[in-house]
Amino acid sequence: MPQHDSPSATPLPQDAHERQRLENVHPSGWRNPLPAASYHLVVVGAGTAGLVAAHAAAALGAKVAVIERALLGGDCLNVGCVPSKAILRTSRLYAEMRNAQQYGAQVPEEFRVDFPAVMERMRGIRARISRADSVRRLSAAGVDVFFGEALFTGTDAVTVDGAKLRFRKALIASGARPDTPSIPGLAEAGYLTNENVFDLTALPRRLLVIGGGPLGCELAQAFCRFGAQTIIVQSKPMFLPQEERDAAQILSDAFARDGIEVRLNTTAVNVRMADGQKLVDLVREDSKSTVEVDAILTGTGRVPNVTGMNLEAAGVDYVATTGIRVDDFLRTSNPRIYAAGDVCLENKFTHTADASARIVVQNALFLGRRRLSALTIPWCTYTDPEIAHVGLYVREARERDIPVKTFTIPMHDVDRAIADDEETGFVKIHVKERTDRILGATIVARHAGEMINEITLAMVAGIGLGTLARVIHAYPTQAEAIKKAADAYTRTRLTPAIQSLLQRWLAW
Ligand SMILES: Cc1cc2nc3c(=O)[nH]c(=O)nc-3n(C[C@H](O)[C@H](O)[C@H](O)COP(=O)(O)OP(=O)(O)OC[C@H]3O[C@@H](n4cnc5c(N)ncnc54)[C@H](O)[C@@H]3O)c2cc1C
Repeated sequence: MPQHDSPSATPLPQDAHERQRLENVHPSGWRNPLPAASYHLVVVGAGTAGLVAAHAAAALGAKVAVIERALLGGDCLNVGCVPSKAILRTSRLYAEMRNAQQYGAQVPEEFRVDFPAVMERMRGIRARISRADSVRRLSAAGVDVFFGEALFTGTDAVTVDGAKLRFRKALIASGARPDTPSIPGLAEAGYLTNENVFDLTALPRRLLVIGGGPLGCELAQAFCRFGAQTIIVQSKPMFLPQEERDAAQILSDAFARDGIEVRLNTTAVNVRMADGQKLVDLVREDSKSTVEVDAILTGTGRVPNVTGMNLEAAGVDYVATTGIRVDDFLRTSNPRIYAAGDVCLENKFTHTADASARIVVQNALFLGRRRLSALTIPWCTYTDPEIAHVGLYVREARERDIPVKTFTIPMHDVDRAIADDEETGFVKIHVKERTDRILGATIVARHAGEMINEITLAMVAGIGLGTLARVIHAYPTQAEAIKKAADAYTRTRLTPAIQSLLQRWLAW
Protein backbone atom coordinates (compact mmCIF):
# COMPACT_ATOMS: atom_id res chain seq x y z
CA MET A 1 0.00 0.00 0.00
CA PRO A 2 1.49 3.38 -0.93
CA GLN A 3 2.31 5.59 2.01
CA HIS A 4 1.83 9.33 2.18
CA ASP A 5 4.31 11.13 -0.01
CA SER A 6 5.80 14.61 0.07
CA PRO A 7 3.64 17.20 -1.75
CA SER A 8 6.21 17.91 -4.43
CA ALA A 9 7.20 14.33 -5.19
CA THR A 10 7.25 13.48 -8.88
CA PRO A 11 5.88 10.00 -9.48
CA LEU A 12 8.07 7.66 -11.46
CA PRO A 13 6.85 6.65 -14.91
CA GLN A 14 5.04 3.34 -14.59
CA ASP A 15 3.73 2.74 -18.08
CA ALA A 16 3.42 4.33 -21.51
CA HIS A 17 0.65 6.64 -20.29
CA GLU A 18 2.76 7.90 -17.43
CA ARG A 19 5.78 8.37 -19.67
CA GLN A 20 3.61 10.39 -22.05
CA ARG A 21 2.18 12.51 -19.22
CA LEU A 22 5.60 13.23 -17.75
CA GLU A 23 7.01 14.03 -21.17
CA ASN A 24 4.27 16.65 -21.41
CA VAL A 25 4.31 18.08 -17.90
CA HIS A 26 7.91 17.60 -16.76
CA PRO A 27 10.11 16.25 -19.54
CA SER A 28 13.15 14.25 -18.49
CA GLY A 29 16.41 16.06 -19.17
CA TRP A 30 14.67 19.44 -19.34
CA ARG A 31 17.11 22.35 -19.18
CA ASN A 32 15.86 25.68 -17.97
CA PRO A 33 16.39 28.56 -20.45
CA LEU A 34 18.59 31.56 -19.77
CA PRO A 35 16.34 34.16 -18.17
CA ALA A 36 15.41 37.32 -20.06
CA ALA A 37 16.67 40.62 -18.63
CA SER A 38 13.19 41.29 -17.25
CA TYR A 39 9.69 39.82 -17.56
CA HIS A 40 6.35 41.56 -17.74
CA LEU A 41 4.98 38.65 -15.72
CA VAL A 42 6.62 35.86 -13.72
CA VAL A 43 4.18 33.15 -12.66
CA VAL A 44 4.97 30.92 -9.68
CA GLY A 45 3.15 27.61 -9.99
CA ALA A 46 1.83 26.08 -13.20
CA GLY A 47 -1.47 24.62 -12.10
CA THR A 48 -4.68 25.88 -13.66
CA ALA A 49 -4.26 29.45 -12.41
CA GLY A 50 -0.61 29.72 -13.48
CA LEU A 51 -1.12 28.16 -16.90
CA VAL A 52 -4.20 30.22 -17.71
CA ALA A 53 -2.43 33.44 -16.73
CA ALA A 54 0.75 32.54 -18.63
CA HIS A 55 -1.09 31.66 -21.84
CA ALA A 56 -3.39 34.69 -21.64
CA ALA A 57 -0.56 37.15 -20.93
CA ALA A 58 1.70 35.69 -23.64
CA ALA A 59 -1.15 35.78 -26.18
CA LEU A 60 -1.51 39.50 -25.45
CA GLY A 61 2.17 40.07 -26.18
CA ALA A 62 3.71 40.01 -22.68
CA LYS A 63 7.11 38.46 -21.94
CA VAL A 64 6.23 35.69 -19.50
CA ALA A 65 8.12 33.14 -17.40
CA VAL A 66 6.58 30.25 -15.48
CA ILE A 67 8.23 28.50 -12.52
CA GLU A 68 6.98 25.04 -11.55
CA ARG A 69 8.54 22.80 -8.91
CA ALA A 70 6.78 19.58 -9.84
CA LEU A 71 4.31 18.95 -12.67
CA LEU A 72 2.65 21.38 -15.07
CA GLY A 73 -1.10 21.13 -14.73
CA GLY A 74 -0.90 21.10 -10.92
CA ASP A 75 -3.52 19.33 -8.87
CA CYS A 76 -6.38 19.36 -11.35
CA LEU A 77 -4.61 17.40 -14.06
CA ASN A 78 -2.35 15.21 -12.00
CA VAL A 79 -4.03 14.40 -8.68
CA GLY A 80 -7.41 16.12 -8.69
CA CYS A 81 -10.31 16.69 -11.06
CA VAL A 82 -9.06 14.70 -14.03
CA PRO A 83 -8.11 11.38 -12.37
CA SER A 84 -11.04 11.57 -9.94
CA LYS A 85 -13.63 12.18 -12.66
CA ALA A 86 -12.13 9.42 -14.79
CA ILE A 87 -12.52 6.80 -12.06
CA LEU A 88 -15.94 8.11 -11.01
CA ARG A 89 -17.18 7.41 -14.52
CA THR A 90 -16.14 3.77 -14.28
CA SER A 91 -17.57 3.45 -10.78
CA ARG A 92 -20.91 4.66 -12.17
CA LEU A 93 -20.75 2.01 -14.84
CA TYR A 94 -20.25 -0.66 -12.18
CA ALA A 95 -23.21 0.70 -10.20
CA GLU A 96 -25.34 0.57 -13.34
CA MET A 97 -24.23 -2.97 -14.05
CA ARG A 98 -25.34 -3.98 -10.57
CA ASN A 99 -28.70 -2.36 -11.35
CA ALA A 100 -28.83 -3.72 -14.89
CA GLN A 101 -31.91 -5.82 -14.26
CA GLN A 102 -33.88 -2.67 -13.52
CA TYR A 103 -33.20 -1.65 -17.13
CA GLY A 104 -34.09 -5.04 -18.54
CA ALA A 105 -30.53 -6.28 -18.97
CA GLN A 106 -29.00 -9.42 -17.52
CA VAL A 107 -25.47 -9.10 -16.16
CA PRO A 108 -23.90 -12.10 -14.40
CA GLU A 109 -24.26 -11.54 -10.66
CA GLU A 110 -20.57 -12.08 -10.04
CA PHE A 111 -19.07 -9.84 -12.73
CA ARG A 112 -15.45 -8.93 -12.12
CA VAL A 113 -14.27 -5.44 -11.25
CA ASP A 114 -10.94 -4.95 -13.00
CA PHE A 115 -9.39 -2.30 -10.78
CA PRO A 116 -5.96 -2.24 -12.47
CA ALA A 117 -7.75 -1.65 -15.79
CA VAL A 118 -9.82 1.15 -14.22
CA MET A 119 -6.64 2.88 -13.14
CA GLU A 120 -4.95 2.27 -16.47
CA ARG A 121 -7.92 3.88 -18.23
CA MET A 122 -7.57 6.84 -15.87
CA ARG A 123 -3.86 7.14 -16.64
CA GLY A 124 -4.62 7.09 -20.36
CA ILE A 125 -7.16 9.89 -20.01
CA ARG A 126 -4.81 11.91 -17.82
CA ALA A 127 -1.97 11.49 -20.32
CA ARG A 128 -4.23 12.61 -23.17
CA ILE A 129 -5.49 15.69 -21.34
CA SER A 130 -1.91 16.55 -20.25
CA ARG A 131 -1.15 17.68 -23.82
CA ALA A 132 -3.14 20.85 -23.15
CA ASP A 133 -0.89 21.64 -20.15
CA SER A 134 2.37 20.66 -21.82
CA VAL A 135 5.74 22.35 -21.93
CA ARG A 136 5.48 22.16 -25.70
CA ARG A 137 2.33 24.29 -25.71
CA LEU A 138 3.75 26.81 -23.27
CA SER A 139 6.99 27.12 -25.23
CA ALA A 140 5.10 27.47 -28.50
CA ALA A 141 3.22 30.38 -26.91
CA GLY A 142 6.58 32.05 -26.19
CA VAL A 143 6.56 31.39 -22.42
CA ASP A 144 9.91 30.63 -20.72
CA VAL A 145 9.45 27.51 -18.57
CA PHE A 146 11.64 26.99 -15.48
CA PHE A 147 11.43 23.85 -13.36
CA GLY A 148 12.46 24.22 -9.72
CA GLU A 149 11.46 25.86 -6.44
CA ALA A 150 10.65 29.55 -6.67
CA LEU A 151 12.33 31.66 -4.00
CA PHE A 152 11.71 35.42 -3.78
CA THR A 153 14.85 37.47 -3.16
CA GLY A 154 13.19 40.88 -3.08
CA THR A 155 10.09 42.75 -4.12
CA ASP A 156 10.84 42.42 -7.85
CA ALA A 157 12.94 39.29 -8.22
CA VAL A 158 12.68 35.56 -7.75
CA THR A 159 15.26 32.80 -8.14
CA VAL A 160 14.84 29.31 -9.51
CA ASP A 161 17.55 26.70 -9.88
CA GLY A 162 20.27 29.35 -9.48
CA ALA A 163 18.77 31.75 -12.05
CA LYS A 164 17.44 35.19 -11.09
CA LEU A 165 14.25 36.37 -12.78
CA ARG A 166 13.36 40.04 -12.56
CA PHE A 167 9.74 41.05 -13.04
CA ARG A 168 7.50 44.03 -13.45
CA LYS A 169 4.61 41.98 -12.14
CA ALA A 170 4.40 38.51 -10.61
CA LEU A 171 1.58 36.09 -9.97
CA ILE A 172 1.73 33.59 -7.12
CA ALA A 173 -0.38 30.57 -8.04
CA SER A 174 1.21 27.96 -5.82
CA GLY A 175 -2.03 26.15 -5.02
CA ALA A 176 -2.83 24.06 -1.96
CA ARG A 177 -2.10 20.65 -0.52
CA PRO A 178 -4.03 18.16 1.59
CA ASP A 179 -4.51 19.11 5.22
CA THR A 180 -3.51 16.10 7.26
CA PRO A 181 -5.58 15.42 10.36
CA SER A 182 -3.43 15.14 13.48
CA ILE A 183 -4.56 11.68 14.57
CA PRO A 184 -2.06 9.81 16.74
CA GLY A 185 -0.65 6.80 14.89
CA LEU A 186 -1.95 7.85 11.46
CA ALA A 187 1.45 8.77 10.01
CA GLU A 188 3.04 5.56 11.31
CA ALA A 189 0.23 3.40 9.92
CA GLY A 190 0.38 5.12 6.52
CA TYR A 191 -2.50 6.72 4.70
CA LEU A 192 -3.68 7.91 1.35
CA THR A 193 -4.46 11.41 0.18
CA ASN A 194 -5.38 12.71 -3.27
CA GLU A 195 -1.63 12.87 -3.91
CA ASN A 196 -1.13 9.11 -3.92
CA VAL A 197 -4.56 7.48 -4.11
CA PHE A 198 -4.45 7.59 -7.92
CA ASP A 199 -1.20 5.58 -7.86
CA LEU A 200 -3.03 2.55 -6.45
CA THR A 201 -2.89 -0.51 -8.64
CA ALA A 202 -4.78 -2.83 -6.27
CA LEU A 203 -8.13 -2.17 -4.66
CA PRO A 204 -7.99 -2.03 -0.85
CA ARG A 205 -10.39 -4.66 0.51
CA ARG A 206 -11.54 -2.41 3.37
CA LEU A 207 -11.24 1.37 3.19
CA LEU A 208 -11.85 4.06 5.77
CA VAL A 209 -12.46 7.54 4.38
CA ILE A 210 -11.96 10.35 6.88
CA GLY A 211 -13.84 13.50 5.89
CA GLY A 212 -17.22 14.11 4.30
CA GLY A 213 -16.37 17.02 2.01
CA PRO A 214 -16.43 16.78 -1.80
CA LEU A 215 -13.20 14.75 -2.06
CA GLY A 216 -14.13 12.24 0.65
CA CYS A 217 -17.68 11.82 -0.68
CA GLU A 218 -16.68 11.38 -4.33
CA LEU A 219 -13.91 8.88 -3.63
CA ALA A 220 -15.80 6.93 -0.93
CA GLN A 221 -18.60 6.30 -3.42
CA ALA A 222 -16.19 5.35 -6.19
CA PHE A 223 -14.19 2.88 -4.08
CA CYS A 224 -17.35 1.36 -2.64
CA ARG A 225 -18.70 0.82 -6.13
CA PHE A 226 -15.41 -0.85 -7.11
CA GLY A 227 -16.10 -3.32 -4.32
CA ALA A 228 -14.09 -2.01 -1.37
CA GLN A 229 -15.91 -2.31 1.97
CA THR A 230 -16.05 1.40 2.64
CA ILE A 231 -16.67 3.33 5.82
CA ILE A 232 -16.90 7.12 5.75
CA VAL A 233 -16.57 9.14 8.93
CA GLN A 234 -17.61 12.74 9.13
CA SER A 235 -17.23 14.78 12.31
CA LYS A 236 -20.24 16.97 11.44
CA PRO A 237 -23.91 15.91 11.43
CA MET A 238 -24.10 15.88 7.62
CA PHE A 239 -21.98 15.52 4.51
CA LEU A 240 -21.02 18.59 2.47
CA PRO A 241 -21.87 20.82 5.45
CA GLN A 242 -22.26 23.99 3.42
CA GLU A 243 -24.94 22.51 1.17
CA GLU A 244 -28.63 22.65 1.98
CA ARG A 245 -29.74 19.99 4.44
CA ASP A 246 -32.10 18.17 2.06
CA ALA A 247 -29.33 17.91 -0.55
CA ALA A 248 -26.90 16.42 1.99
CA GLN A 249 -29.62 14.02 3.20
CA ILE A 250 -30.13 12.70 -0.32
CA LEU A 251 -26.41 12.02 -0.47
CA SER A 252 -26.46 10.13 2.84
CA ASP A 253 -29.34 8.01 1.53
CA ALA A 254 -27.50 7.35 -1.74
CA PHE A 255 -24.40 6.24 0.19
CA ALA A 256 -26.47 3.87 2.29
CA ARG A 257 -28.01 2.39 -0.89
CA ASP A 258 -24.51 1.88 -2.31
CA GLY A 259 -23.54 -0.01 0.84
CA ILE A 260 -21.19 2.58 2.31
CA GLU A 261 -21.09 2.47 6.09
CA VAL A 262 -21.95 6.04 7.02
CA ARG A 263 -20.71 7.36 10.39
CA LEU A 264 -21.84 10.95 10.96
CA ASN A 265 -20.94 13.00 14.06
CA THR A 266 -17.96 10.69 14.34
CA THR A 267 -14.27 11.44 14.79
CA ALA A 268 -11.27 9.19 14.19
CA VAL A 269 -9.10 9.61 17.27
CA ASN A 270 -6.34 7.01 17.06
CA VAL A 271 -4.76 4.58 14.61
CA ARG A 272 -2.62 1.54 15.41
CA MET A 273 -1.31 -1.45 13.53
CA ALA A 274 -2.08 -5.04 14.47
CA ASP A 275 -1.23 -8.07 12.29
CA GLY A 276 -0.77 -5.81 9.28
CA GLN A 277 -4.25 -4.27 9.74
CA LYS A 278 -5.00 -0.68 10.56
CA LEU A 279 -7.17 -0.37 13.66
CA VAL A 280 -8.89 2.99 13.89
CA ASP A 281 -10.65 4.15 17.04
CA LEU A 282 -13.78 6.18 16.39
CA VAL A 283 -15.70 8.33 18.83
CA ARG A 284 -19.34 9.37 18.47
CA GLU A 285 -20.62 11.43 21.37
CA ASP A 286 -19.92 9.11 24.34
CA SER A 287 -19.63 5.86 22.42
CA LYS A 288 -16.36 4.43 21.17
CA SER A 289 -15.77 1.80 18.51
CA THR A 290 -12.85 0.40 16.55
CA VAL A 291 -12.81 -0.44 12.87
CA GLU A 292 -10.27 -2.63 11.10
CA VAL A 293 -9.28 -1.57 7.59
CA ASP A 294 -6.57 -2.08 4.99
CA ALA A 295 -6.31 1.55 3.89
CA ILE A 296 -7.21 5.00 5.15
CA LEU A 297 -7.95 7.90 2.83
CA THR A 298 -8.00 11.39 4.30
CA GLY A 299 -10.04 14.20 2.79
CA THR A 300 -10.17 16.74 5.56
CA GLY A 301 -9.53 19.96 3.70
CA ARG A 302 -6.79 21.81 1.87
CA VAL A 303 -4.12 24.19 3.11
CA PRO A 304 -2.53 26.84 0.88
CA ASN A 305 1.12 26.52 -0.21
CA VAL A 306 2.60 29.68 1.26
CA THR A 307 5.82 28.56 2.91
CA GLY A 308 9.23 28.00 1.36
CA MET A 309 8.95 30.85 -1.17
CA ASN A 310 10.43 33.54 1.08
CA LEU A 311 7.28 35.63 0.76
CA GLU A 312 8.64 37.83 3.54
CA ALA A 313 11.41 39.07 1.23
CA ALA A 314 8.78 39.88 -1.39
CA GLY A 315 6.67 41.81 1.11
CA VAL A 316 3.70 39.51 0.55
CA ASP A 317 1.43 39.00 3.59
CA TYR A 318 -0.17 35.64 4.20
CA VAL A 319 -1.91 33.57 6.84
CA ALA A 320 -0.74 29.96 7.01
CA THR A 321 -4.28 28.58 7.19
CA THR A 322 -6.12 30.79 4.71
CA GLY A 323 -3.35 31.74 2.30
CA ILE A 324 -2.04 34.87 0.66
CA ARG A 325 -3.96 38.00 1.56
CA VAL A 326 -5.38 39.68 -1.53
CA ASP A 327 -7.70 42.60 -2.12
CA ASP A 328 -10.73 42.46 -4.40
CA PHE A 329 -8.42 43.05 -7.39
CA LEU A 330 -6.30 40.05 -6.32
CA ARG A 331 -3.36 42.28 -5.47
CA THR A 332 -1.19 41.26 -2.52
CA SER A 333 0.45 43.57 0.02
CA ASN A 334 3.18 44.07 -2.63
CA PRO A 335 1.48 46.04 -5.45
CA ARG A 336 3.70 44.31 -8.03
CA ILE A 337 2.58 40.87 -6.95
CA TYR A 338 -0.82 39.26 -7.42
CA ALA A 339 -2.21 35.88 -6.37
CA ALA A 340 -4.81 33.56 -7.89
CA GLY A 341 -6.30 30.12 -7.37
CA ASP A 342 -6.19 27.88 -4.32
CA VAL A 343 -3.36 29.77 -2.65
CA CYS A 344 -5.63 32.72 -1.89
CA LEU A 345 -9.25 31.80 -2.60
CA GLU A 346 -11.84 30.32 -0.31
CA ASN A 347 -13.54 28.57 -3.23
CA LYS A 348 -10.88 26.08 -4.24
CA PHE A 349 -12.02 24.98 -7.70
CA THR A 350 -10.38 24.74 -11.09
CA HIS A 351 -12.87 27.14 -12.64
CA THR A 352 -12.23 29.76 -9.92
CA ALA A 353 -8.47 29.32 -10.40
CA ASP A 354 -9.07 29.95 -14.10
CA ALA A 355 -11.38 32.95 -13.57
CA SER A 356 -9.11 34.55 -10.97
CA ALA A 357 -6.06 34.15 -13.26
CA ARG A 358 -7.89 36.04 -16.03
CA ILE A 359 -8.67 38.86 -13.60
CA VAL A 360 -4.99 39.05 -12.65
CA VAL A 361 -3.80 39.34 -16.25
CA GLN A 362 -6.12 42.27 -16.88
CA ASN A 363 -5.49 44.02 -13.57
CA ALA A 364 -1.73 43.45 -13.39
CA LEU A 365 -0.76 44.11 -16.99
CA PHE A 366 -3.51 46.26 -18.50
CA LEU A 367 -4.70 48.63 -15.76
CA GLY A 368 -7.84 46.57 -15.37
CA ARG A 369 -10.16 47.06 -12.39
CA ARG A 370 -11.86 43.69 -12.42
CA ARG A 371 -13.08 42.49 -9.05
CA LEU A 372 -13.15 39.01 -7.57
CA SER A 373 -16.41 39.83 -5.80
CA ALA A 374 -18.12 40.39 -9.17
CA LEU A 375 -17.77 36.70 -10.10
CA THR A 376 -20.71 34.33 -9.97
CA ILE A 377 -19.19 31.00 -9.05
CA PRO A 378 -21.02 27.69 -9.39
CA TRP A 379 -19.68 24.41 -8.05
CA CYS A 380 -20.53 20.77 -8.12
CA THR A 381 -19.73 17.65 -6.14
CA TYR A 382 -19.62 14.77 -8.61
CA THR A 383 -21.22 12.10 -6.49
CA ASP A 384 -24.18 10.15 -7.80
CA PRO A 385 -26.45 12.10 -7.70
CA GLU A 386 -24.39 15.22 -8.27
CA ILE A 387 -24.91 18.23 -6.02
CA ALA A 388 -24.44 21.61 -7.65
CA HIS A 389 -24.94 25.10 -6.36
CA VAL A 390 -24.64 28.71 -7.47
CA GLY A 391 -25.32 32.03 -5.75
CA LEU A 392 -26.87 32.44 -2.33
CA TYR A 393 -28.18 29.78 0.00
CA VAL A 394 -31.46 30.66 1.73
CA ARG A 395 -29.64 31.08 5.05
CA GLU A 396 -27.24 33.59 3.42
CA ALA A 397 -30.11 35.55 1.88
CA ARG A 398 -31.80 35.71 5.29
CA GLU A 399 -28.57 36.86 6.92
CA ARG A 400 -28.61 39.74 4.43
CA ASP A 401 -32.28 40.46 5.06
CA ILE A 402 -33.19 39.57 1.48
CA PRO A 403 -36.72 38.10 1.32
CA VAL A 404 -36.61 34.83 -0.63
CA LYS A 405 -39.15 32.78 -2.56
CA THR A 406 -38.08 29.29 -3.57
CA PHE A 407 -39.37 27.17 -6.47
CA THR A 408 -38.63 23.46 -6.15
CA ILE A 409 -39.16 20.75 -8.74
CA PRO A 410 -38.46 17.14 -7.70
CA MET A 411 -36.67 15.16 -10.39
CA HIS A 412 -39.41 12.51 -10.22
CA ASP A 413 -41.67 15.06 -11.93
CA VAL A 414 -39.34 15.24 -14.94
CA ASP A 415 -40.05 12.83 -17.78
CA ARG A 416 -36.44 12.32 -18.83
CA ALA A 417 -35.37 11.59 -15.26
CA ILE A 418 -38.16 8.98 -15.05
CA ALA A 419 -37.14 7.45 -18.39
CA ASP A 420 -33.51 7.30 -17.25
CA ASP A 421 -34.38 5.95 -13.80
CA GLU A 422 -32.54 8.93 -12.39
CA GLU A 423 -35.34 10.40 -10.31
CA THR A 424 -33.40 11.19 -7.16
CA GLY A 425 -33.00 14.88 -6.46
CA PHE A 426 -34.50 18.25 -7.20
CA VAL A 427 -34.02 21.65 -8.76
CA LYS A 428 -34.44 24.45 -6.29
CA ILE A 429 -34.26 28.05 -7.49
CA HIS A 430 -34.37 31.01 -5.11
CA VAL A 431 -35.60 34.41 -6.28
CA LYS A 432 -35.96 37.69 -4.48
CA GLU A 433 -39.55 37.78 -3.27
CA ARG A 434 -42.00 39.57 -5.58
CA THR A 435 -39.39 39.66 -8.36
CA ASP A 436 -37.95 37.07 -10.75
CA ARG A 437 -34.32 37.95 -9.90
CA ILE A 438 -32.47 34.71 -9.30
CA LEU A 439 -30.48 34.76 -6.08
CA GLY A 440 -29.20 31.22 -6.19
CA ALA A 441 -29.98 27.60 -6.92
CA THR A 442 -29.19 24.11 -5.73
CA ILE A 443 -29.56 21.16 -8.05
CA VAL A 444 -29.36 17.55 -6.96
CA ALA A 445 -29.53 15.32 -10.01
CA ARG A 446 -27.50 12.85 -12.02
CA HIS A 447 -26.30 15.70 -14.26
CA ALA A 448 -26.57 18.61 -11.83
CA GLY A 449 -23.12 19.89 -12.87
CA GLU A 450 -24.33 20.38 -16.44
CA MET A 451 -27.67 21.85 -15.39
CA ILE A 452 -26.30 24.49 -13.00
CA ASN A 453 -24.59 26.27 -15.90
CA GLU A 454 -27.97 27.46 -17.24
CA ILE A 455 -28.74 29.13 -13.92
CA THR A 456 -25.25 30.63 -13.74
CA LEU A 457 -25.68 32.06 -17.23
CA ALA A 458 -29.03 33.55 -16.24
CA MET A 459 -27.55 35.13 -13.12
CA VAL A 460 -24.53 36.57 -14.95
CA ALA A 461 -26.64 37.94 -17.80
CA GLY A 462 -29.32 39.27 -15.45
CA ILE A 463 -31.94 36.96 -16.96
CA GLY A 464 -34.86 36.50 -14.59
CA LEU A 465 -36.73 33.29 -13.86
CA GLY A 466 -39.69 34.67 -15.83
CA THR A 467 -37.54 34.77 -18.97
CA LEU A 468 -36.36 31.19 -18.38
CA ALA A 469 -40.03 30.19 -18.61
CA ARG A 470 -39.96 31.46 -22.21
CA VAL A 471 -36.85 29.44 -23.12
CA ILE A 472 -37.80 26.32 -25.03
CA HIS A 473 -36.02 23.35 -23.49
CA ALA A 474 -35.57 20.29 -25.70
CA TYR A 475 -37.89 17.48 -24.66
CA PRO A 476 -37.12 15.19 -22.94
CA THR A 477 -34.16 16.55 -21.00
CA GLN A 478 -33.47 16.69 -17.31
CA ALA A 479 -32.88 20.45 -17.63
CA GLU A 480 -36.63 20.75 -18.17
CA ALA A 481 -36.77 20.79 -14.37
CA ILE A 482 -35.45 24.35 -14.62
CA LYS A 483 -38.20 25.30 -17.05
CA LYS A 484 -40.77 23.75 -14.72
CA ALA A 485 -39.44 25.83 -11.83
CA ALA A 486 -39.69 28.89 -14.08
CA ASP A 487 -43.29 27.93 -15.00
CA ALA A 488 -44.08 27.64 -11.30
CA TYR A 489 -42.81 31.19 -10.88
CA THR A 490 -44.93 32.43 -13.80
CA ARG A 491 -48.04 30.92 -12.23
CA THR A 492 -47.47 33.06 -9.13
CA ARG A 493 -47.91 36.10 -11.40
CA LEU A 494 -51.54 35.07 -11.87
CA THR A 495 -52.92 37.21 -9.07
CA PRO A 496 -56.68 36.98 -8.33
CA ALA A 497 -57.12 40.33 -10.11
CA ILE A 498 -55.43 39.09 -13.29
CA GLN A 499 -57.33 35.78 -13.08
CA SER A 500 -60.69 37.53 -12.88
CA LEU A 501 -59.70 39.84 -15.75
CA LEU A 502 -58.84 36.79 -17.86
CA GLN A 503 -62.12 35.10 -16.94
CA ARG A 504 -64.09 38.18 -17.94
CA TRP A 505 -62.21 38.34 -21.25
CA LEU A 506 -62.95 34.68 -21.99
CA ALA A 507 -66.61 35.08 -21.01
CA TRP A 508 -66.88 38.00 -23.41
C1 LIG B 1 -9.19 14.99 -5.60
C2 LIG B 1 -9.56 16.36 -6.09
C3 LIG B 1 -10.58 16.52 -6.97
C4 LIG B 1 -10.92 17.78 -7.45
N1 LIG B 1 -11.97 17.89 -8.30
C5 LIG B 1 -12.33 19.10 -8.75
C6 LIG B 1 -13.40 19.24 -9.67
O1 LIG B 1 -14.02 18.26 -10.07
N2 LIG B 1 -13.71 20.48 -10.12
C7 LIG B 1 -13.03 21.60 -9.69
O2 LIG B 1 -13.36 22.70 -10.12
N3 LIG B 1 -12.00 21.50 -8.81
C8 LIG B 1 -11.63 20.28 -8.34
N4 LIG B 1 -10.58 20.17 -7.48
C9 LIG B 1 -9.86 21.41 -7.07
C10 LIG B 1 -8.84 21.82 -8.14
O3 LIG B 1 -7.98 20.75 -8.42
C11 LIG B 1 -8.04 23.01 -7.65
O4 LIG B 1 -8.91 24.02 -7.23
C12 LIG B 1 -7.14 23.58 -8.74
O5 LIG B 1 -6.23 22.61 -9.16
C13 LIG B 1 -6.38 24.82 -8.21
O6 LIG B 1 -5.50 25.28 -9.19
P1 LIG B 1 -4.28 26.22 -8.77
O7 LIG B 1 -3.62 26.61 -10.03
O8 LIG B 1 -4.71 27.27 -7.85
O9 LIG B 1 -3.31 25.29 -7.89
P2 LIG B 1 -2.57 23.88 -8.23
O10 LIG B 1 -3.29 23.11 -9.26
O11 LIG B 1 -2.37 23.26 -6.90
O12 LIG B 1 -1.19 24.35 -8.82
C14 LIG B 1 -0.20 24.95 -8.04
C15 LIG B 1 1.16 24.61 -8.62
O13 LIG B 1 2.15 25.39 -7.96
C16 LIG B 1 3.31 24.61 -7.80
N5 LIG B 1 4.12 25.20 -6.72
C17 LIG B 1 3.79 25.32 -5.43
N6 LIG B 1 4.78 25.93 -4.74
C18 LIG B 1 5.74 26.21 -5.64
C19 LIG B 1 7.02 26.83 -5.54
N7 LIG B 1 7.50 27.29 -4.38
N8 LIG B 1 7.76 26.95 -6.66
C20 LIG B 1 7.29 26.49 -7.84
N9 LIG B 1 6.09 25.89 -8.00
C21 LIG B 1 5.32 25.75 -6.90
C22 LIG B 1 2.76 23.23 -7.48
O14 LIG B 1 3.70 22.22 -7.74
C23 LIG B 1 1.55 23.16 -8.41
O15 LIG B 1 1.86 22.56 -9.65
C24 LIG B 1 -10.21 18.92 -7.00
C25 LIG B 1 -9.14 18.78 -6.10
C26 LIG B 1 -8.82 17.52 -5.64
C27 LIG B 1 -7.67 17.39 -4.68
